[in-house]
Formats: sequence, C-alpha cells, structure tokens
Amino acid sequence: MGLLGFQGDVSEHKTALLKASKNRGMNITVREIRKDSDMNNISGLIIPGGESTTIYNLINSYGLYARIKNEGMNGLPIWGTCAGLIIISKNTGDDRVIGMDLLDVEVERNAYGRQINSFISELDISGIGKFEGVFIRAPVISHVGDVEVMAYYNEKPVMVRHMNYIGTTFHPELTDDTRIHELFLDLVEREGYTSTGNNKGDN
Ligand code: GLN
Repeated sequence: MGLLGFQGDVSEHKTALLKASKNRGMNITVREIRKDSDMNNISGLIIPGGESTTIYNLINSYGLYARIKNEGMNGLPIWGTCAGLIIISKNTGDDRVIGMDLLDVEVERNAYGRQINSFISELDISGIGKFEGVFIRAPVISHVGDVEVMAYYNEKPVMVRHMNYIGTTFHPELTDDTRIHELFLDLVEREGYTSTGNNKGDN
C-alpha cells in the first residue's frame, strides 16, 4: 500500500491503515512514496492532507505527477483526503495547483472562511452511517460531475467516490474510527491492481 510521504498527516494515515487492516484480518505493508520507483508494486495510494500547493510542487519536483495520474487511469485505487482530494480533482480553482482530473469534481480551496476554517461536525455517510468529520482549512466541493456523493455537510458534498477513486474533504485519519480506511481497503481488494513500473507517464 502506498502513502504519498512528502508532507502532511502521513503518520496518522499510516497508523489508521495498519489498524484498519488488522480489523479486516488483512496483512498489509505501508510504503511512503517519494520517488518513482516507490510507485512500483503498490495496490493503492493515499494522498494525505497538508498544503496542496506544497504537495503539488513536490509531486512535480520528484517527477511523480504523470506516474500517479497514469496509474490512477489504469485502475490504481487512490484516496485523496483534503489537500489530496484537491490534487486529484478536475479543477482546483487555483493556478498553482493543476488537478489531475481523476475525480470529476471542482473544488474551491479554503472556502469555509476564516472563522470556521477548522471544525468538527457529525456526518452521515451512505453505507457507513454516523462519522465524526474533522475539517481543517478544508476545500469546498463546488461542483460534481460523474461521481457518487456519499456525504454532505451544509448541503455541500464532502465525500465522493467514482470507480477506483475516493475523495474526502475531511480527515478520518485524525479520529480513531477506521471505517473509511477499511472502505478503501475493500476497494483495493476489489480492484486487485498492482502497479508494475512500466507506467512512467509516456503512454
Ligand atoms: N487548505 C489546504 C489546501 O488548500 C488543505 C488543508 C488540508 O489538507 N487539511 O491545500
């Protein structure tokens, strides 16, 4: 299992993934991804929250942009949380971050405004139920295309999925609740994808 390891809440995701896999009786290893060869032989990828401009610049400096995008288009399960969702979205509304256009959503960065830029709210997620949503300078999903919306906050989508992609504007890794990590592991199991290393962005 891959976890983009440049910046943000990487260790929290790692802990949650290992706990989720234990709950599911699965045995996974989590590899922090920082260079192209780290992308070989992974079955899923989490892009964590953090600062999307920084993570985006690092993805580009280390030559990973086309690789991640191509693996996604070939079926690699990818879950973007917060900044990670911004990066895999179709349109970020910000010239400094060009979305990978994997998940058909448009986002607006830091759109909750200064007063409530971080908050916790109980969400009702389809197929999962009540879940504590931790929002930290979260983006708003301002437009959805061909995706399933799994949860809303104030009538705005906060969790979406489509094919091998999941996006959340909140941070399940900052709670003790591993159900969304387990959902991602289910997706990984179902897709049964393993990256080969022959997909460096030139096809
Ligand atoms: N505000 C951040 C951004 O736009 C995202 C915040 C987060 O990932 N918690 O990049």
